[in-house]
Amino acid sequence: MQRPCALCLRLMDSIGEPISSIPVTKIYKASHGMCKTCGDRWLEQALQDTQPQAVTRPPVLEVKVSSNY
Ligand SMILES: [Zn+2]
Repeated sequence: MQRPCALCLRLMDSIGEPISSIPVTKIYKASHGMCKTCGDRWLEQALQDTQPQAVTRPPVLEVKVSSNY
């Protein structure tokens, strides 16, 4: 079964390995899924994005809220 990756639009096989280096043009019936490469990259970015935000909050938002009241 071949389906395109949702991010890089390259065809991948059933285990998520990209089998084509050329992105498919347009497949409207694309199933939701990422190839292994994009999946790993997405997971890394997601972890990197959530960790610092959980530790430090932007103080600008709190100032705006308090000034409204
Ligand atoms: Zn991909």
